[in-house]
Amino acid sequence: MNTTVNLLDFDLDGLTAFCESLGEKRFRATQLFRWIHQRGVADFGQMTDLAKSLRDKLAGRATVTALPVITQHESKDGTVKWLFDVGGGDAVEAVFIPEDDRGTLCVSSQAGCAVNCRFCSTGHQGFSRNLTTAEIVAQLWFAEHFLRQHLKTDERVISNIVMMGMGEPLQNYDRLVPALRTMLDDHGYGLSRRRVTVSTSGVVPMIERLARDCPVALAVSLHAPTDALRDHLVPLNRKYPIDELLRTCTAYLASAPRDFITFEYCMLDGVNDSPEQAQALIALVRRHGQDGLRCKFNLIPFNPFPQSGLTRSPMARVMAFGKLLNEAGIVTTVRKTRGDDIDAACGQLAGDVQDRTRVHERIARQRTVVLHPVSALAPTKGA
Ligand code: SAH
Ligand code: SF4
Repeated sequence: MNTTVNLLDFDLDGLTAFCESLGEKRFRATQLFRWIHQRGVADFGQMTDLAKSLRDKLAGRATVTALPVITQHESKDGTVKWLFDVGGGDAVEAVFIPEDDRGTLCVSSQAGCAVNCRFCSTGHQGFSRNLTTAEIVAQLWFAEHFLRQHLKTDERVISNIVMMGMGEPLQNYDRLVPALRTMLDDHGYGLSRRRVTVSTSGVVPMIERLARDCPVALAVSLHAPTDALRDHLVPLNRKYPIDELLRTCTAYLASAPRDFITFEYCMLDGVNDSPEQAQALIALVRRHGQDGLRCKFNLIPFNPFPQSGLTRSPMARVMAFGKLLNEAGIVTTVRKTRGDDIDAACGQLAGDVQDRTRVHERIARQRTVVLHPVSALAPTKGA
């Protein structure tokens, strides 16, 4: 039986327990953790200041194993998208979005998704399986160290994480939390809690647990002002309706690192984009506002895909909707679509691999991958 463990599966506490089980002191785990995450080293032999005894114990018992890259695409705007092979014919994506003052990595939490939102291509794909902690962390580990090499910098490239790739992170809670802790750990990626965002379709009990276990910035995918419409667009709403969700958001703010919740709202032509619906949304927020729900809205122009039968709201309607919210005192932004030319925009992730048999074929065909240099990227200033 193969009993090697992938050390990307451990947060620092987990790695400490593992090292202690090998008879090693706590500080050795910290050293090892820094080699892996801060320096991107996978080969124990290269971890020069690590005791030879520990290196010997690790060899054969542990590995640091990244995910095989199936494809890598770079957009004209500098966005980079990776498709990773997670085995069994499944693939997940991560997207790097460089901006002047930050570098954001959009990370996947599941292969497919069980929530089945009407407007989401991952949802249409169905649920395959939860990613392990190692598979979640491997996206960051690979992207960060790959980008550092290509930008020829020793400085941190990724300053922000958004759990907005494929999957519902709060339906993979036990794997997610150690991954978040590794992102936040000063000996790991040292990211600020304000710069790590979990995006959820509204898994109420897990939002409550996140507040206790690992409070980070929260984005909630709202998409509708009424339960009738949200039941249809986000089927999870039937289990956790809007009022309950918003009460939970208000409570989350007590431990959140930011003093507002971000509501995401995907703009669907003729479905949820009328002025009346904007007014209903304002009334909804005001009703909850009395209990202290501070929030911002992020309007996402829908990224169409053929099976959805839906279309994107015209930009004028998106702007008019945003104007109504802004005039009512709710800070509202319209998300700039990035990486359009490489299908890296929201809801398009793995849109081209919906049919699993095609994923199998692509993985077989593209097993040998040539990584394209990410030459056009400008270094970001970091946090
Ligand atoms: N499951 C989580 C996180 C992943 S989806 C969630 O639903 O929040 C990340 C964001 O992309 C969500 O706000 C989601 O509503 C949005 N999204 C999904 N499909 C989209 C599409 N086709 N066009 C625009 N946004 C989309
Ligand atoms: Fe799942 Fe989020 Fe897509 Fe809904 S929008 S199907 S929750 S990934």
